[in-house]
Amino acid sequence: MRAISSAKSTLGRREILRRAGLAVAGVAGGSSAINWVSPLVLPRAPRIDANRSFWALELPEVNQPLRASTDSDIVIIGGGLTGLSAAYYLRQRLPGRRVIVLEAKRCGNGASGRNGAMLLTSTADRYLIAGDDAAMDRRIHEMTVANIDRLRELALATGIDPHLDLGGALHTELGGAEGAGADVGQSAVREATATAARLRDSGIPAEYWDQERTASAIGTRFYSGAIFNPLAGQVHPGRLVAMWKRAAEQAGAEIFEDTAVVRVEEGAVHTLRTQTGIVVRAPVLLLATNAYGRRLGYLGAAAAGVWDYMACTVPLTPAQWDSLGWQSAAPYDDAQTETYYLGVTRDRRVHIGGGPVDYLFNDGTPDAHQQSARHQALHATLARLYPSLARIPFEFLWGGIVDMSLDSSPAIGRMGRHANIYYAIGYSGHGVNLTSVFGRISADLMTGREAEWAWLPYLGRLPPYLPNEPFRWLGIQARLAAVRWSESR
Ligand SMILES: Cc1cc2nc3c(=O)[nH]c(=O)nc-3n(C[C@H](O)[C@H](O)[C@H](O)COP(=O)(O)OP(=O)(O)OC[C@H]3O[C@@H](n4cnc5c(N)ncnc54)[C@H](O)[C@@H]3O)c2cc1C
Repeated sequence: MRAISSAKSTLGRREILRRAGLAVAGVAGGSSAINWVSPLVLPRAPRIDANRSFWALELPEVNQPLRASTDSDIVIIGGGLTGLSAAYYLRQRLPGRRVIVLEAKRCGNGASGRNGAMLLTSTADRYLIAGDDAAMDRRIHEMTVANIDRLRELALATGIDPHLDLGGALHTELGGAEGAGADVGQSAVREATATAARLRDSGIPAEYWDQERTASAIGTRFYSGAIFNPLAGQVHPGRLVAMWKRAAEQAGAEIFEDTAVVRVEEGAVHTLRTQTGIVVRAPVLLLATNAYGRRLGYLGAAAAGVWDYMACTVPLTPAQWDSLGWQSAAPYDDAQTETYYLGVTRDRRVHIGGGPVDYLFNDGTPDAHQQSARHQALHATLARLYPSLARIPFEFLWGGIVDMSLDSSPAIGRMGRHANIYYAIGYSGHGVNLTSVFGRISADLMTGREAEWAWLPYLGRLPPYLPNEPFRWLGIQARLAAVRWSESR
């Protein structure tokens, strides 16, 4: 899923969206003293709320918290897919070194354990877009395809099946019989056909599926067609976290849960303090904190915590399933900029997420009323796509933060006075696969293999500057407004 996707095929539109955010955020924020004062007076956000998703039922058992102060060679903050995969690769590369993961709640409590389950290739800013740099698009695509092979191998090695369904994924186009109308449908078909052809010319496999073929795969005639990505698929996010946690522990990493870091004192050797006053000292730190890093004073200018919502039905009866006509296991996301994304679980529940996202002042958390309104809207969308599901209730409702960067591109690198704080952030709703690519690259950066990744455009950069409040809120609202405006045209 791409929460605020910039994947409408034209670069012009992407540029408009990017500039809308930058114009308000960068100019206003950069020139104002308020920008520098506001973090000193506002509470540290975002709040780390509990994961209530369907996937959370299969998250691994929670480890003990860290109970005594200690030293480590490397410390990782965050037990999501970034942190767990980095821990695994670090221990592979440095078997004699101590690697500790500190997780505030439980592994997979964040986006890694509550996402849309789409296992996608490439990155949010390049996904199924035939860009100008075809060679780079292809290289990044291949890097992420190779990672899917590694997931398959790790599933065997750990004995935890993350329900990898590698039957491809669809990116549906609006404007089918019940969709946006014949004119929009025709232009969407032309654009999608041309995009699929250009992707193939670049060496990235992609097919255009017409309305009939799309409808027979996913059981709705709402879309005029789709681009099919044969190398993507879906996964069970809770089980994927369990797989990575076991892989990291088997490799010798130590994982402590219910252990929130509340303060980092930087140095040649960092001193981290937890909520219970325990101290961890380590010369190397990885921030695998998603947008939560802002709580510690890190990476707030790189990504904002944008709220996205999901829901999952009760299991369908065989009769309900048959009437649905959803023949393929392929999940799909639609081509709207505020994407909807859907899939089916192995016990035949339909899950749906996306639509309008929310950014609340100071990376706030939406209240129950606001979340409920978004979930009702998801149900209405589901009923529009699949009228036979109109009376099927949702059993699980949840939301979570997506670490959205202003240009929808991820970033990885190191920072700090001693260049010993590493980060990987900004997946922008496209991290289920990419996180463990970046976990691996983080380990490479820490172990002297940086040169291997010199070609990667996301290395050593930070996304465009996101200011502090109130300009942060204004900038993101401007960007969301531009997204909605471009969507309604
Ligand atoms: C609703 C939703 C749907 C999505 N759908 C998809 C999809 O279909 N496909 C896709 O590719 N991507 C999707 N994504 C994005 C993807 O899930 C994320 O990019 C990815 O999981 C990020 O992983 P992470 O490890 O970087 O962060 P997280 O999984 O958020 O992990 C960060 C961890 O750090 C911990 N932490 C933070 N601060 C501290 C602290 N101070 N001390 C200790 N621990 C701390 C948190 O508790 C958290 O567990 C979706 C995201 C959401 C929210």
